[in-house]
Amino acid sequence: MRNGVALVAVFGALFGFAMFLSRSIGRTLREMALRARELASGASAKPGVPKGPREVRDVLFALEEMGARCRKIEATMLSEADMMAVRLNRQESQLGAALNNMTQALCMLDGQKRLVLSNEVFSRYFGEVAPGTPARAFLTDPSLTLPLRENEMATDLLEVGGAVMEVKRRGMLAKGLLITFEDITEKQRISRRLEHVAGHDGLTDLPNRKNFAEVLDQRLAKGRDGLLVAVVDIRGFKSINDTHGHPVGDAILKECGNRLVRIAGPKATVSRLGGNEFAVVLPGVRGTGDADAFAGALVASFDSPFDVESRRIEARGSVGTVHIAAGQRMTSLGADIVLQNCDLALYQAKQEAGSAYRRFKPAMREKLQRRREMELDLQKALDEGQFELFYQPFIDTERRRVSGFEALLRWQHPVSGMISPAVFIPLAEETGLIERLGKWALEAACHEASKWPEDLTISVNLSAVQFKSPTLVEDVRGALAASGLAPRRLQIEVTESLFLDEGDRVLSILKEFRRLGLTISMDDFGTGYSSLGYLSRFPFDKIKIDQSFVRDMGRAENIAIVRSIIGLSRALNMSVIAEGIETPEQMQILYSEGCREMQGYLFSKPRPSSDLAKMLMEVANQWRSDFPSLAADKSMAAA
Ligand code: C2E
Ligand code: MG
Ligand code: MG
Repeated sequence: MRNGVALVAVFGALFGFAMFLSRSIGRTLREMALRARELASGASAKPGVPKGPREVRDVLFALEEMGARCRKIEATMLSEADMMAVRLNRQESQLGAALNNMTQALCMLDGQKRLVLSNEVFSRYFGEVAPGTPARAFLTDPSLTLPLRENEMATDLLEVGGAVMEVKRRGMLAKGLLITFEDITEKQRISRRLEHVAGHDGLTDLPNRKNFAEVLDQRLAKGRDGLLVAVVDIRGFKSINDTHGHPVGDAILKECGNRLVRIAGPKATVSRLGGNEFAVVLPGVRGTGDADAFAGALVASFDSPFDVESRRIEARGSVGTVHIAAGQRMTSLGADIVLQNCDLALYQAKQEAGSAYRRFKPAMREKLQRRREMELDLQKALDEGQFELFYQPFIDTERRRVSGFEALLRWQHPVSGMISPAVFIPLAEETGLIERLGKWALEAACHEASKWPEDLTISVNLSAVQFKSPTLVEDVRGALAASGLAPRRLQIEVTESLFLDEGDRVLSILKEFRRLGLTISMDDFGTGYSSLGYLSRFPFDKIKIDQSFVRDMGRAENIAIVRSIIGLSRALNMSVIAEGIETPEQMQILYSEGCREMQGYLFSKPRPSSDLAKMLMEVANQWRSDFPSLAADKSMAAA
């Protein structure tokens, strides 16, 4: 019983304690829970000091601080979110502007080949396409939607409404595709134009040398049938340009190109190699007969004059060809060699008067090789002093004595022996060595003549090429000064070719010579271009009748020419000399026609300076022994 009461008392005490706990802690806990809920809902904490035990209050304070921190973080996050939203908006509109301002059309497809986005340019070419539309609805070419690995690129061409598009595709994540379309119609047109300009001559619009060489290389590589390659040169084009002006020259070049294209036909390629040179390659030319016939037709294209600016201008053409027979193509034969061979043939053709053509033969190359070797030898000869001057007398038939000598170059080649100036002078002219060689001859001749009796003159040949030298007048003055030779004893011999180019410059140099006191003689008269205009523009002292007229004096025409040259020289108050006299008959005819000064093997061949005294003596004896009968001849006596 006592135990029961005690148990009740214990339970009662426990209940009372529990009640006390629930009343004192429970309220505080509830308040904490309430505060925590308020914090969680974002409401600000109630002001005031929380009630309850210290620990509980600490927790409540901590909760409050946490709440304040959370609100701060929330506020910061909200403001950042606002900023990001603004930035995102801006970026979106920038992206939109960029997309729509692109010159290319752009579209993005997802992995199912449906449109994700596109720009305005895209709608211009493909119409308004809604996102989600399958690509096949607007891209008819299925190859353009073929999947690509991520970042893999592919480029294709597409024609849309007459425009040429360059399509660039790039693989994206999840089999998506980014495709751009660029209208390259204009770009293509410009690049084609540039390509054309780079490969064509601006004046004639014909393929240029580089382009022609490519075409020729292709033809040489593939064709099995015969091939003809021709190089065409307009002769005397420089003087046409100088006389009529460059616009006329240009018009002739254009017309010449047109004529060649017409003659060569559609299978051929005609090119302007540069300057006044054209080239033609014609396939299907079987034999050399056909090749020559075609070359002849090219030459004949110059038969009719060129009508430019109401002027009729005559021009002639030279043609050098290379014929490659069917099956004879060597793999090593390239355009450069073929064109070189054409040039060699052309060089031969140009040696002929008027229009001409020549077909390449291997001997021409050998000749070129020899010329190259000689060119090197020539240089060496100048350095080593292998040149010498020979002297040939001029005979004054009236006074029966030598009036002077012509200095003629000789080359004592250590291996080949004596080489004729007819061979090496043209070579020296082509290589420019004539300037040094001519100066040497001039100085040596003046030096030699300064040792002779006062009444003997010395005649020195000057090449037309020497007149291009800016120091020519100075060189002559220097040679006279160094030798002490009186200028009146020096005679200069020039040929008609001198007046082909730069007539005015030549005239001013000749006048300068005249001022120095020299005499000037026109050599080989009648063989050159014989435009008599220069004779009236510059009064020569002497005309030399060319030996070709003298050689065949039996022909009436030659006598007529000789007679007219003598008449002309009298009319223009010039003296006259005939060269190449080999027989007493020639001498007699010339004398009877009124020619008094003569030169030729009949009197003496050109000989070294050491023979000079001998020559003078021999000529004097000749009159006594060989010519007395001639001298007594009626015609000579009458003259
Ligand atoms: P050219 O000035 O007309 O000289 C006359 C040429 O005819 C010389 O030939 C001479 O030897 C030759 N000859 C003279 N009389 C007769 C004859 O009766 N019969 C024949 N068959 N020939 C005769 P060469 O010495 O061979 O000279 C040839 C050409 O070389 C010269 O023709 C001249 O144009 C040029 N030449 C010679 N020396 C010089 C020079 O120092 N400077 C320049 N620029 N040219 C020169
Ligand atoms: Mg001469
Ligand atoms: Mg001559």
